[in-house]
Amino acid sequence: MEYFPLFMKLAEQPCLVVGAGDIAARKIEILGKTGARISVVAQDIGSSVAALQPGLNLDIRQKAFEAADVTGMRLVISATNDRTINELVAAAAQASAIPVNVVDNPDLCSFVFPAIVDRSPLIIASSTGGLSPVLARLVRAKIESAIPAAYGALARFAEKFRQPVKQAITDINQRRAFWESVLSGPIAELVFSGKIDQAEQRLSQELHAQNSVDTKRGEVYLIGAGPGDPDLLTFRALRLMQQADVIVYDRLVSAGILDMARRDAQKIYVGKQRSQHSLAQESINELLANLALAGKRVARVKGGDPFIFGRGGEEIETLMQQGIDFQVVPGITAGAGCASYAGIPLTHRDHAQSCTFVTGHLKDGTINLNWKQLAVPNQTIVIYMGLVGLRAICAALIEHGCPADHPIAIVQQGTTSQQRVLTGTLCSMPDLAEQADIKPPTLIIVGSVVRLHEKLSWFRSSPASRI
Ligand code: SAH
Repeated sequence: MEYFPLFMKLAEQPCLVVGAGDIAARKIEILGKTGARISVVAQDIGSSVAALQPGLNLDIRQKAFEAADVTGMRLVISATNDRTINELVAAAAQASAIPVNVVDNPDLCSFVFPAIVDRSPLIIASSTGGLSPVLARLVRAKIESAIPAAYGALARFAEKFRQPVKQAITDINQRRAFWESVLSGPIAELVFSGKIDQAEQRLSQELHAQNSVDTKRGEVYLIGAGPGDPDLLTFRALRLMQQADVIVYDRLVSAGILDMARRDAQKIYVGKQRSQHSLAQESINELLANLALAGKRVARVKGGDPFIFGRGGEEIETLMQQGIDFQVVPGITAGAGCASYAGIPLTHRDHAQSCTFVTGHLKDGTINLNWKQLAVPNQTIVIYMGLVGLRAICAALIEHGCPADHPIAIVQQGTTSQQRVLTGTLCSMPDLAEQADIKPPTLIIVGSVVRLHEKLSWFRSSPASRI
């Protein structure tokens, strides 16, 4: 992070703007909203600065800039189109350790202006650190359309009840949960539609109800986080990850996805060793239950979909036994995600009328699958956890009737920038995979749909990952 974002209180603080053209006028207007005392120093005063509202706390001085002008200032902005003056301003401010922004000169700035969505008291600022102001503005436009204009009213509403709620609900986690339900539920909708009285009434009722029942119980969100690309999270997964107090995650959940969780959430890694499955699973089940019983909202985040080779069923069974509330959020399973990003449709009118998901996990050195059924033509087989058993899988399929030149693909780290796709035949693949040093996680796709990869491949991973 090259720039530290912060919000600065400037009411009655002296700020200096050097220059008085159109750009200076825009900066003065924004600064003016904070109630800052603004001095403007410029030799020519442009019409837009001259026309600025008289309500602003403005002191316009028509003169040449000199270093002494920065003395005592909290913030300095240089908005002239004269490089020499801009450099003088920047040097004078930097010498006194005063934050300085020189418009359109990132190299002379100690701070940059973000693009702002103003729903005061709610303010949202976005920045690319000056690299692409246009991109920051596009982000702003998206936020503008996503945040109702009445959010400012909602923030003021929340401010009014802050103290009463704090007094009524002393537990910080419970209080956060209460506010989340207020700010994202029917009460917020009442505020948005201007029915402030009704919103206040309803909040008082809910506050009362909150105190009379045992609200210490937490809940568990069993969340499928997809195969790796954070963009493939569902809205619900994202929302619940941002509400959870604790994130319990395993090996397949990427750093990019964890970054989406609430910043101050506790994060617990429960990645499993291949050989220690059952033991680890029991303690995970217990951990989830115990956290929820302690009143936490727990996001149990899993790669792909929780109900596809994800042991999600076992985890919620324990929760059900203990009467703990939970919900399950489906995710994009690796089979679907990797196939899409590899340009291999899992079904196709000319190639495959069905698709079977199987696990290639070795148990006591063997893979227990219905090979006869899997060797039938016109279908696609998607094999999870199959890398270790790859040689055995290819041999078994050939033995049960698949042609030796039947197409097979391996997708490593599918949907991420490190994705690698290796294609071959049942006969060649075991050696090819060894030569290419294929590493987990990998998904195997068997069937003539694999031939479409060459034509339909669209996703470009980083150059270092390509085969
Ligand atoms: N519940 C998960 C699967 C868990 S089993 C899901 O629905 O996707 C773990 C296996 O999933 C791995 O061994 C691998 O075969 C596959 N897998 C998960 N993510 C993957 C990825 N990004 N690329 C390739 N395979 C992946």
